[in-house]
Amino acid sequence: MKKPLTPKILREAPVLRCDRQATQKQERLILLINPFYPKDPHASFGKHVLTPTLALTSVAGATPDGWEVRYWDENLLQGHPPWNPFPAVVGITVHLTFARRAYALADWYRSRGATVILGGLHAQSCPEELADHADAVAIGDGVRVWPQILADHASGCLKKYYQADYDHAYEDSPPPLRRILDRKSFLTTSSFNASRGCHNRCGFCYLSTRGLKMPYQTRRPEHIVEEFKSDDQPYGVFTDNNLGSDRQYLGRLCRALRPLRKIWSAAVSVDVADEPELIREMALAGCMGVFIGFESLSDENIRRAGKKAPRTEDYARRVEIFHRNGIQVNGSFVFGFDHDPGDVFAKTVSWIEEARLECATFHILTPYPGTPLFRQMEREGRLLHKNWDFYDTSHAVFRPRHMSPSDLEEGYAWAYQQLFSHRSIWRRRPRQRSAVLPYFCMSYLYKKSNFFWPFLIRQRWTMRAWRPLMEWTRRRHFRHCLALESGAQTPQKASGLVVPASV
Ligand code: SF4
Repeated sequence: MKKPLTPKILREAPVLRCDRQATQKQERLILLINPFYPKDPHASFGKHVLTPTLALTSVAGATPDGWEVRYWDENLLQGHPPWNPFPAVVGITVHLTFARRAYALADWYRSRGATVILGGLHAQSCPEELADHADAVAIGDGVRVWPQILADHASGCLKKYYQADYDHAYEDSPPPLRRILDRKSFLTTSSFNASRGCHNRCGFCYLSTRGLKMPYQTRRPEHIVEEFKSDDQPYGVFTDNNLGSDRQYLGRLCRALRPLRKIWSAAVSVDVADEPELIREMALAGCMGVFIGFESLSDENIRRAGKKAPRTEDYARRVEIFHRNGIQVNGSFVFGFDHDPGDVFAKTVSWIEEARLECATFHILTPYPGTPLFRQMEREGRLLHKNWDFYDTSHAVFRPRHMSPSDLEEGYAWAYQQLFSHRSIWRRRPRQRSAVLPYFCMSYLYKKSNFFWPFLIRQRWTMRAWRPLMEWTRRRHFRHCLALESGAQTPQKASGLVVPASV
């Protein structure tokens, strides 16, 4: 199968130049960096600019007075990271797949005299690896240790490791500092975490990393409302692992959000559809899209992953409950489980089309270090290597049970190709006729405009391109809500709004 091309600018990070020296060091300047990662040519290039990472804006929000904080996201394609004025402190978030780039950045800034702090998900599983490139490593909840790190840096007694659990009251965490973001560069700057943790603990999920204790906690709905209100955006994204883990809380949050008349999307587990009334409340509160980790259409795979979920034969009925309430469904599917036969790709795509999912994302099963899945693969001698660059869910890094690693990669690419085909987009069109046009606009802008995205991102036109669609979607959604409230909405009339529910 012919592999789609990725433009160089989306494939390779900018070269870090040796001739750029720290001429104007600013002692109270902090630079927070989200490192570059190569984009998957099979997926939409646009998904990287939907919302900014909350990890860095949250750390910025915990910065004591007296510091100036700047933000740099290499995925916004603005070239060489800043060096003039030169920051005294550089904070870099490290994930498995862009760890190498994060280390290159850390080494570059350190060699010019900056104090470099590394944190993020990878710090939890491989802290020693990070320590080789950092003055200090923040393990666990970076927001809690950040003020202490800055105080120790200022008094010259920085330690190598700082660690904080996630067991304190989450509602006391400071709000993220969104004003450091370049608003034009994102679909929306209104990203929120209303909760953290998940009632599940799936063996392949980073939440099951050894040593990571993250009890499910929530923030006060009125704080979320305040944040949403103050960020002048029509659309918000909840980046919680699972906003549906505590249904009573979700109900309270929906009632608080409803008067705002803004639209939003969130990741929830499919079991929230146990309560159709809650789905209706979500819709009335502005929820226009959900991201659901279906993971697999095999009950055995779900059971072995340790996920508590309804039977897979009931998935389609549950999707219909969301559609009936005017909520799009973006399904997430993982390929390569031990009970995936060779025809898993075709069967999954065909199910997605039958259930008319507006959007879907595919992932190759990836054993993240420290998780039960990683230990199992290591025990069974099935890991192919430990080159983290390829632990990005688009490469096979282990030997699957019923196919070869290359079959797995080809099947994954084929599934994306099918999903983004004109035929599949047509087959998944909403039933409601008036919703078909906005659905096509979204599908073609999001999924079939990869040639166009690098230009849009570099010009910082992301928000400009999406904003009219967002407004259109918002109006449509609340018109639909009127029908829902009056009881006039029927399954045939529902569904089909714009904007990918991706988070
Ligand atoms: S349901 Fe999702 S977020 Fe929760 S543990 Fe499983 S994979 Fe992770």
